[in-house]
Amino acid sequence: MDKSKRAAVLAGNWKMNKTPAQAAELLDAIIPAVKDADCTVICCTPFVDLSVAVEKCKGTNVKIGAQNCHFKESGAYTGEVAANMLTEMGVEYVIIGHSERRQYFGETDETVNLRTKAALAAGLKVIICVGEMLDERENGVFEDIVGRQTKIALLGIDKAELKNIIIAYEPVWAIGTGKTATAEQAGEACGYIRSVVAKLYDNEAAEGLTIQYGGSMNPGNAAELLAQKDVDGGLIGGASLKAPDFKALVEAASK
Ligand code: PEP
Repeated sequence: MDKSKRAAVLAGNWKMNKTPAQAAELLDAIIPAVKDADCTVICCTPFVDLSVAVEKCKGTNVKIGAQNCHFKESGAYTGEVAANMLTEMGVEYVIIGHSERRQYFGETDETVNLRTKAALAAGLKVIICVGEMLDERENGVFEDIVGRQTKIALLGIDKAELKNIIIAYEPVWAIGTGKTATAEQAGEACGYIRSVVAKLYDNEAAEGLTIQYGGSMNPGNAAELLAQKDVDGGLIGGASLKAPDFKALVEAASK
């Protein structure tokens, strides 16, 4: 499939930044800045900002996402948030398996799969993050790592559900470090993920899947990264907290 037929998606991952009042202020700047976007625009905020963010973005083209959800519907899971709690609030997207969750909070490929299935069952669209560490890239095993993460994340998920899934390729060594993968590295990795999905499902499924690049994407490097034939958008950390930068990235991702 021609890349132009796939959905281009630019998502901001605000991480643990912005109080509810600050979130409202940032969205007041983002909403008018991205109103003419020709791509899907998502802001993934901290849980406590979701209510204000959903309210602010009603009637706009900005979609709201969370940064995690639990795999159980309810129960004794102190500190966790269930997927149906998010949908009831009007949240549409959730990031699952971000490398910071994997690194600092014990997220595994198996829990990524469980969380993804729970999120889909509740009606959320899921951005699944995969990506290798620096030593894994240097040792030439990035395909093994990213392939395994992708395969396990998608275990038990039907082809029909892929329309509600985005995969974000985020090399861990490029996240928040200012080190960006080269456009060729990003394109190669996103192409590899697409080939893994083709083997798991079929070509049609793989060709229809939106695959983002994430890792120090900014207005200066976005055009080259987004020009790669298998890169369909970006998952943006630092630059999503500055409305002018986020606007420039949305423009770069727009067709
Ligand atoms: C991210 O948090 O997913 C990310 C890509 O961060 P940054 O853009 O800051 O590297």
